[in-house]
Parts: sequence; C-alpha cells; structure tokens
Amino acid sequence: MSVSFVKVQGSGSVGIGVITSVVEAKDGAISVASAFAAHQEAVQDRDHEFLTRAVEEAYKGVECGDGGPFGAVVVRKDEVVVSCHNMVIKHTDPTAHAEVTAIREACKKLNQIELSDCEIYASCEPCPMCFGAIHLSRIKRLVYGAKAEAAIAIGFDDFIADALRGTGFYQKANLEIKRADGNGAIIAEQVFEKTKAKFTMY
Ligand SMILES: [Zn+2]
Repeated sequence: MSVSFVKVQGSGSVGIGVITSVVEAKDGAISVASAFAAHQEAVQDRDHEFLTRAVEEAYKGVECGDGGPFGAVVVRKDEVVVSCHNMVIKHTDPTAHAEVTAIREACKKLNQIELSDCEIYASCEPCPMCFGAIHLSRIKRLVYGAKAEAAIAIGFDDFIADALRGTGFYQKANLEIKRADGNGAIIAEQVFEKTKAKFTMY
C-alpha cells in the first residue's frame, strides 16, 4: 500500500499552507500524520520567526522613547513588508498603535488599500481599535504573542472588557487568529516585565 503526503514549500525556507505537490512514499514509511506534524512544525518555526521580530520592535519602540512596548510586523509571501512599533508618544497620537502604524505603512509601501494577501504578527493581542483596522484592511491572518491581560496588568486599559475584545468580536471566517504558544508566548509576555520601568504610561 502506498501512502501519500503533502509537501510544503516556501521561498527558500519552509512556508505555510502552500501545497505544491503530492508525493507518494514507496514503502509507506511516511504517514499522513507525520507529514502533517512536520507541516505544523514548519508553520510554528515561521510564526516564531516573525513574532520574534514583532517582539524586537516592541523593545525598540521603548528604547527610542516612541511609545509603549508593542510591535507589529506585516508579512507578505514570506517577506516582511514593514516592521513597526507603537508611535503614540512620538506622533502625539493616541491611535498610533503598532498594528495601526504597521497597516498604514504597509498600505503606503504596497500602494494598495487592502492587505488581503498579508499576515500581521503582533507582540500583544490587539486592542479593539487595532482589530477594527485589521478587519478593514482585510488582512488574512493574525498571530499574536502576549494576551491582552499582560498589557492590562501593567496599566494599559484600552483593551476594554472581554465582551468587546477583538478576538471574539472580530472573529470572522476570513481572518485566522492564532495565539502563539510555547516560547513565542513567553518572549512576548516578558516584554512588559522588562520594559515597564523604561516608559511613561499614557
Ligand atoms: Zn491597538
């Protein structure tokens, strides 16, 4: 009996969800389950890489004094389009959250008003305003690190209550939302603890 499995291929490295070929294993040694697990692992690695970049932006933003400890990265076809952080203080603009800033910059850079071929990686779960912006931009996938509670715990109150929480309210069929787990979640949650003495609450 031959067993077939799907091969995942990206640009140079392993990509996500792009089924390029179906290969038959001669001896049936490779099971569908293990191929799926390998695919999941590739997705994990890729997500971890881009989420780490968003976390680095969060630190960078605090170091520059631009705003709060939040970062966001827009990715298109495995390439980083923009990597941004919170600019609320720098721009004297309460709406200049990392995700909104990243969406604005990505649209400008790509010269398009929708980002349906893009994904966004956020160091923290987006607030309702940012979820609104993600929804309006038609971004297809969101991966975030820290839970909103981690930001609330250090005094950011603009995440409002659970009832208005974006993850529930904006959970739509055309937007896949993933919360990082394992090390990805840990490095994202650590941002607040490590930066809380370095920025002024606004
Ligand atoms: Zn926000």
